[in-house]
Amino acid sequence: MPQTLTLVGAPLPGGVEAVAADILGAFGLSPVSGRVLSPERAVELTLDGEGDARKIEGTLREALPEVDVAVLPAENRRKRVLLADMDATMVVGETIDELAAALGKEAEVSAITERAMRGEIDFGAALDERVAMLAGLDAAEIDRIAGGLTYSPGAEAFVRSMAADGVRCMLVSGGFDRVTGVVRERLGFHADRANHLEVGPDGRLTGTARKPVVDAATKLATLREMAMTAGVALADCLAIGDGANDRAMVEAAGLGIAYRAKPMLREAAAARIDHTDLRTALYYQGYTDAEIVG
Ligand SMILES: [Mg+2]
Repeated sequence: MPQTLTLVGAPLPGGVEAVAADILGAFGLSPVSGRVLSPERAVELTLDGEGDARKIEGTLREALPEVDVAVLPAENRRKRVLLADMDATMVVGETIDELAAALGKEAEVSAITERAMRGEIDFGAALDERVAMLAGLDAAEIDRIAGGLTYSPGAEAFVRSMAADGVRCMLVSGGFDRVTGVVRERLGFHADRANHLEVGPDGRLTGTARKPVVDAATKLATLREMAMTAGVALADCLAIGDGANDRAMVEAAGLGIAYRAKPMLREAAAARIDHTDLRTALYYQGYTDAEIVG
């Protein structure tokens, strides 16, 4: 099956297409057509055959270190379902660490978060341990933090452009539903699924989360449910995340994207965004700026 090479920069360096054509030539491939997706920022080249995508991408990354590159099948590029992680993907940082900061426990909690996101410790156990440390926190503090989140650049354009194209968009998070509800509304997701922190009669967190918790298996199950409900194959789904608990859904989706991700996910994903913003997930599907909302 023919492939498409997408190159995205902020902006693209001059002569990028010539560099790409040289490298493709070394793999016995040549571009049969090219298209500007975004002036100065994104181009795609349709190739005359199929090569080892990983090797071609690796060589291109060495030659173009500030450029995001993806070699993907030229057919069936636009996905019909979007499932996205929240923390460190749609928003900057980890909200559980910010909640812990309100209790002066950020250092302890963030050390566990980091290890869990790298896949070094079990997600469910790590969640229980951190949620226990949040006991006593005024639940209103969650709403305060949800209202002051920093969104990842391009997040709203990414979600709203896909939604405008008729794609079913859902946020799935090992974080908390009081936060995902706010992020869903703000970015234009149709639905969200996340963990629920129990609140006591005094309005403070009890230190427990409702079971079963949303973990890697839940994220994968959510992807399968969404595909079934939409009547599409997993090949028609896009999943994007940054951490170890996103790996199963990212590997199962037709287009799995690692966004500024931990090494384990970066290696596992079919595509990566390391340097540019979330609009790159649209360019990888062949969207042009004229089709991007906002
Ligand atoms: Mg994350």
